[in-house]
Amino acid sequence: MSVQVVAAKMAEVDLKDVPTGKDLPAGSPMTPTSDGKKIPRNDQHEAGTLGLLTPNPAKMPQASAMKRPDPQQNGGEAFVNRDGTVAEAPRMKKIQFADQKQEFNKRPSKIGRRSLSRSISQSSTDSYSSAASYTDSSDDETSPRDKQQKNSKGNGDFCIKNIKQADFGRREIEIAEQEMPALMALRKRAQGEKPLAGAKVVGCTHITAQTAVLMETLSALGAQCRWAACNIYSTQNEVAAALAEGGFSVFAWKGESEDDFWWCIDRCVNVEGWQPNMILDDGGDLTHWIYKKYPNMFKKIKGIVEESVTGVHRLYQLSKAGKLCVPAMNVNDSVTKQKFDNLYCCRESILDGLKRTTDVMFGGKQVVVCGYGEVGKGCCAALKAMGSIVYVTEIDPICALQACMDGFRLVKLNEVIRQVDIVITCTGNKNVVVRENLDRMKNSCIVCNMGHSNTEIDVASLRTPELTWERVRSQVDHVIWPDGKRIVLLAEGRLLNLSCSTVPTFVLSITATTQALALIELYNAPEGRYKQDVYLLPKKMDEYVASLHLPTFDAHLTELSDEQAKYLGLNKNGPFKPNYYRYVWKQQLWVWTINAKLGIYVQLYTYVFNNY
Ligand code: NAD
Repeated sequence: MSVQVVAAKMAEVDLKDVPTGKDLPAGSPMTPTSDGKKIPRNDQHEAGTLGLLTPNPAKMPQASAMKRPDPQQNGGEAFVNRDGTVAEAPRMKKIQFADQKQEFNKRPSKIGRRSLSRSISQSSTDSYSSAASYTDSSDDETSPRDKQQKNSKGNGDFCIKNIKQADFGRREIEIAEQEMPALMALRKRAQGEKPLAGAKVVGCTHITAQTAVLMETLSALGAQCRWAACNIYSTQNEVAAALAEGGFSVFAWKGESEDDFWWCIDRCVNVEGWQPNMILDDGGDLTHWIYKKYPNMFKKIKGIVEESVTGVHRLYQLSKAGKLCVPAMNVNDSVTKQKFDNLYCCRESILDGLKRTTDVMFGGKQVVVCGYGEVGKGCCAALKAMGSIVYVTEIDPICALQACMDGFRLVKLNEVIRQVDIVITCTGNKNVVVRENLDRMKNSCIVCNMGHSNTEIDVASLRTPELTWERVRSQVDHVIWPDGKRIVLLAEGRLLNLSCSTVPTFVLSITATTQALALIELYNAPEGRYKQDVYLLPKKMDEYVASLHLPTFDAHLTELSDEQAKYLGLNKNGPFKPNYYRYVWKQQLWVWTINAKLGIYVQLYTYVFNNY
């Protein structure tokens, strides 16, 4: 059974409050991209794998009928207690990367130990979450591994911080459900239909309320799940408790050591009488562990779904080396994930991260944003809307021109560095802000990074004897010069929104829905549809994910008439854009620039031809 069949069956369930489906064209395999490029093997514009369930405006719920999440939602390192007092989370333990001894029930081999130690630095500490645990674990220093734990039904197949937090976690999950309409719709559509019946999914992702909604959806679709955290800091303990109370085998808690991290992953896969047949990974650590420790498991595994840049990169490496032994789905590069994670998510979370850490007022502040890609555009738009005066630095003339036409002053960093109140990097590059820039900043300048890695600001250059570091809040350091000038460095130059704020649930909903559909597709795909390669999601699936989210906005999608569809050469039910269409103005500008250049050459040629 493939996704189109599943989707067709789901569509048969007539529901009042979710879009109904119709017209489910035959599919084609997803695009293999083992060379790392997003070039289709099949023209997905012609045929997608997924049957698109076109939303029916008449059946869309009214936006007002959707409950909104608790506006008090908080998270990150400092959190508000129920009595209203603000508490600081315990300092993160520093993990040791290389050659640290690993002593747990199932010890990794020496080789595995080294390479896996390295991988934790890349992904488990540097990926993306809405880590927002409300529960302070500092009152109980006993390692969860040393505790006997059982839920109210006597089940003890889990390892979490504190099962007593389950009720609290359940409320968190219920709040998340309000902003994850597509997963809730999938659950309803799957009533009586279990497209994941028999699936044994082992997962390694951030364990947050949003992940819990995904896990419970997978379970509603028929899957059994065992889960570990992909990040040692990001587990919401109360959510892990709610999942364990609900019968899920969860092995995760906030503030795991490196040793705990691998122990938890091992407990997920190394269990008597249960073998996974699907992997859902974020960062590639779980996949890597199974490769190293239990390669035979791949005989039963039908596919891997990977969410992160790092994990996808690892899969492409495996594929290139001819070592990928099952099909893998690259969720990271799906259009909806890219667009929503980078632009819309950053547009909201930049303000959240800055506010929580510094309580800064944005109106009238001078801000320089380095990089005007998707993330930079989101940051600039948010800050401009708050009344900040925004400058942009860019290396690419196209993005630079976009910044100008969007109303931002394009400058070199050193032109404004003395006057700005906030510096934000979002380039994905290294050494964008260096010691010389930091020396010239004015007193109280806030410095932070929204790019993936902590290479953008040269933080190491601030570790010199004449500078004093003062930790004023969790994730907030004052770096003080001998003359008393201080700059405010956030999250030591790591991703601001990962470290200091939450990520909007609605954004995570889009990614989670894509993950669920990718699992359904890989699990149900007939033998031979997918080879041992890395595949991109077809555009049709992206469109389907988007369509499932439209009812939240009481949005009414226009349907193509037969005449219009014929005129445009499209199937009325999509896909509506060719694969190369990336939904960015940047690309259209490219085309325009190329066309303009071609036009000039043609004119020149005509002129020369006519005159000589
Ligand atoms: P992008 O490639 O669209 O944009 C980066 C821009 O920076 C480009 O336009 C590039 O020309 C410019 N640039 C490169 N070097 C520069 C320099 N020295 N000075 C000025 N500009 C420079 O990438 P993106 O999607 O905007 O992502 C940027 C970074 O943010 C990446 O590291 C990405 O992984 C990360 N990211 C973060 C989040 C988050 O939630 N914080 C979400 C998605 C992506």
